[in-house]
Amino acid sequence: MTITTDWSQRINPTVQAMPPSGIRRFFDLVAETKGVISLGIGEPDFVTPWHIREACIYSLEKGYTMYTSNSGLLELREAIAADLENSYAVRYDPRTQLLITVGVSEALDLCLRALLLPGDEVLIPEPSYVSYGPCTSMAGGVPVFMPTGMDEGFRISADLVERSITPRTKMLLLCYPNNPTGAVMDRAELEKIAEVAVAHDLIVISDEIYGRLTYTGRHTCVASLPGMQERTLLLNGFSKAYAMTGWRVGYAAGNSDFIAAMTKIHQYSMLCAPTMGQMAALEALKSGQPAMRQMIENYNRRRSVVVHAFRDMGLPCFEPGGAFYAFPQVSVAGLSSEEFAEQLLKEEQVALVPGNAFGPSGEGFARVSYATSLEDLSEAFRRMTRFVRRRGVRACLISAPA
Ligand code: PLP
Repeated sequence: MTITTDWSQRINPTVQAMPPSGIRRFFDLVAETKGVISLGIGEPDFVTPWHIREACIYSLEKGYTMYTSNSGLLELREAIAADLENSYAVRYDPRTQLLITVGVSEALDLCLRALLLPGDEVLIPEPSYVSYGPCTSMAGGVPVFMPTGMDEGFRISADLVERSITPRTKMLLLCYPNNPTGAVMDRAELEKIAEVAVAHDLIVISDEIYGRLTYTGRHTCVASLPGMQERTLLLNGFSKAYAMTGWRVGYAAGNSDFIAAMTKIHQYSMLCAPTMGQMAALEALKSGQPAMRQMIENYNRRRSVVVHAFRDMGLPCFEPGGAFYAFPQVSVAGLSSEEFAEQLLKEEQVALVPGNAFGPSGEGFARVSYATSLEDLSEAFRRMTRFVRRRGVRACLISAPA
């Protein structure tokens, strides 16, 4: 028997080959720098509204400290089902078609693990949220990225989906409004994509965590399109819309076979989502709407400030229709995404995320979160303007496509 000396040899090769998140790597650098204004974090700068925190405290006082059912509190599932029906006219049976998870993160992992066979391909629009590729690989699947660019507003088309399909394609993973670009899809194109999904019998995972944060037009819930509810796993949660990232509550809604399979994995790995978080989520659905609307109005005001500030300083910036990210083109400063982010951090102490962290089609761009106070944004823009002026960038008169 050989005795291990190199412990890295004992690690699962899929995990060993996986690069650490480009965001994390960059933020280790940020942690070492003083006086940084961070536009890099993908979470609300608001604290969870007080009445939601209070409801959780009250539930603790009443002694709600045990596990809930594996599927989550029935009352919460009922409230989610009612919310989905009111918002998008899609009906789910709270007993069999809904599972409360530890954030959308767990819901995503469960869908992939429950459904993928080794070698199954998953189509993912790119630039892409950093978890999609690695989670697909860890579940034995093969991520197939569909690159998009600023000229098409970082949207996919039915044609692009059709062209990316092979005999191994099993799933299409959508995320609109999008992280990192802020792109939203229009209903007409989504309808065509739905037709392609039906024609090729694809399962669709729709990560709608930014659905409420839609500023232009109305969010289209993919499951509400003709023929889609049965084949769509709708993922959503409380992190972004209700400023509840740390509570770790999300959900998956879908056909009862898929949900039952996911519940099996969830019951062995997680047991249930945190009880306190579920209590808070219930309160968020019961009476969190006014606070949520206020936060959304705030993001929307900042969105317009941010887009104009980038264009004024000479960086082309696509107008995001949702989420709380802008995706300016930084390559006009003659730098790669990483060079721009690293030099800006070093010279002006402003942190943003290099666009290539979201895949090769993000190269030349940077993700800027406007879940940041207007004061910090203004100071960050003063510093960035100085930085790009030093590199010869002048005000941009050509506007990028909306
Ligand atoms: N999906 C997307 C697109 C995200 O941007 C994030 C967090 O940044 C998540 C999922 C994770 O959400 P949760 O906090 O519900 O796990």
